[in-house]
Amino acid sequence: MSNDYRSMWKNLGLNLESHDALLNVLGNAYKDIFLSQKNRPQGMEYFDFVMSEVHGLRIKELLNEKESGRKIIGSYCVFVPEEIVLAANATLVGLCAGADFAVQEVEKVLPRNTCSLIKSTFGFKLGKVCPYLECSDMVVGENTCDGKKKSYETLSEIVSNFYAMDLPQMKSVQGKALLKAEYIKFKEALEKLTKFPLTVESLKKGIETVNNKRKAIYRLNNLRKTNPSPISGIDSLLINQVYFYDNPARFTDSVNKICDELEQRVEKEEGIFSKSTPRLLLSGCPMAVPNWKIPWIIETSGALIVGEESCVGERGTRNLVDSSGNTIDALIDAIVDRYFQIDCAIFTPNPNRLDHILEMFDKYQANGVITYNLQFCQPYLMENMKVEEKLKSKKIPNLRIETDYSMEDVGQLKTRLEAFIELVK
Ligand code: SF4
Ligand code: SF4
Repeated sequence: MSNDYRSMWKNLGLNLESHDALLNVLGNAYKDIFLSQKNRPQGMEYFDFVMSEVHGLRIKELLNEKESGRKIIGSYCVFVPEEIVLAANATLVGLCAGADFAVQEVEKVLPRNTCSLIKSTFGFKLGKVCPYLECSDMVVGENTCDGKKKSYETLSEIVSNFYAMDLPQMKSVQGKALLKAEYIKFKEALEKLTKFPLTVESLKKGIETVNNKRKAIYRLNNLRKTNPSPISGIDSLLINQVYFYDNPARFTDSVNKICDELEQRVEKEEGIFSKSTPRLLLSGCPMAVPNWKIPWIIETSGALIVGEESCVGERGTRNLVDSSGNTIDALIDAIVDRYFQIDCAIFTPNPNRLDHILEMFDKYQANGVITYNLQFCQPYLMENMKVEEKLKSKKIPNLRIETDYSMEDVGQLKTRLEAFIELVK
């Protein structure tokens, strides 16, 4: 890393020693997990580059944006509408943290039995290792699960520019009205911050940019339906993770570019694994960078992941926003329509998610479903029971995983996953 980056990190207030340690672990894991794959599409080089520069060049770009007057908005959830952020002359970055950090410090402010995702959010802040968090002009925390909303009370004390967004818990008329009111409030807070009042044009443009990003992902998803699949699950997950960090237009172009290559692979029936490889659907909690544990175990144990029913996956990207409205209110209604369909397990009841899992199982020609739960995640663990019932009723093989970010259970998980893969063969 250049000295240029080191002074940039220092100016952002990062703890350079801890940050070096994090980058070291990340770099080694990346080499072992991603670069060791055989027969990868060439288009993955772009995403390798993005990851190698995730704390370098991308942060420099964001700081340049800030210098030119744009604002950076950090978010922890796919309910924060990027369309509105872009329309207000700001850039949205995902802050979801996927690794343990500063655990001892974290456990001084959070109960031990908190999910890894929330702990990691705090670990990255307390350990001063996340340049995205430090360069954000506003950090949006949403009232989703109890763990998040209660922990945000503490986070707001250590993140000075914290913004709380309330979210509905039921898919009712009142729930939808709450979402709309919150999006309008968010729009106003952004306008105040950026001094850029939204216009119909800027909002339409924001919608178009994000729709294009999603359409590129749909192209990728479509190609994963084929057997043999032209791309691995772990590379597809990486693309879905980079979705949250990269410049949107450049990301869209890069995904479309790799899809051009994958189309040729499909034509030649060139797969990443053989046609007889068991195809698995992953369903459950989001997997944020660098949480690659389960996909890595699965794809080094003889199976392929063909889809992610996850916020870092199809739950987060499906459905487009209708951009045909001609007033700000009509466009916000269209945004609300789209986001209100997200079937996060914090909603009660949440039957659409069960249907979506079945739909994905068929669409991606899967042979089994792995339900992925973070320990202490009440919404997804509770809902797992319903998911299991549904899958059982359709005679779909299913394995429930409950884990955290540590590597202590890798051996045990590998044994269970290998046995499951044998079963679905
Ligand atoms: S799982 Fe729910 S709370 Fe978490 S990112 Fe997705 S929508 Fe947000
Ligand atoms: S929904 Fe689950 S995984 Fe997500 S933050 Fe809440 S407890 Fe953690």
